[in-house]
Amino acid sequence: MDERLERYKKLLKEKGMKTTGQRLAIFEVLANEPDRHFTAEEIYEKVKASWPEIGLATVYRNIQKLSEFGVIDKLNLDDGFVRYEIGDPDRDKSHHHHHHLICLECGGVFTFEDDLLEQLEGRIRDTMGFIVSDHEVKFYGRCRACSEALKKK
Ligand SMILES: [Zn+2]
Ligand SMILES: [Zn+2]
Ligand SMILES: [Zn+2]
Repeated sequence: MDERLERYKKLLKEKGMKTTGQRLAIFEVLANEPDRHFTAEEIYEKVKASWPEIGLATVYRNIQKLSEFGVIDKLNLDDGFVRYEIGDPDRDKSHHHHHHLICLECGGVFTFEDDLLEQLEGRIRDTMGFIVSDHEVKFYGRCRACSEALKKK
């Protein structure tokens, strides 16, 4: 985990972003839980623990900045909230690090690490001459727990 955090910090530096303490605190909230999808308010609550005087507006502004720099990703998981997660430190662009599986029964959001879409992006480039820089994919369906619960009925 610490190694991962170091890579993220390097990424911030590479992007020429000034790393203020508050900005770093926001960043660490997301980096520490890469599978969680935070709302701005949830990030604010966490950051307040180490920066009690910080205001929601400041947190919000810094979230926007981090998102502009492609260090964190903005998400829409169809629950009516704007959510954020950490970007992938091993990609040169603002690439996500997993895909989202949304259960239509319980509303749970699951993450899937493998990104098998490079091949498809290659084909799009070869056949259409279109250079893909990012993609957003959501899978909808029924999670394992809901499938099993349904079977028992
Ligand atoms: Zn995610
Ligand atoms: Zn479910
Ligand atoms: Zn992907």
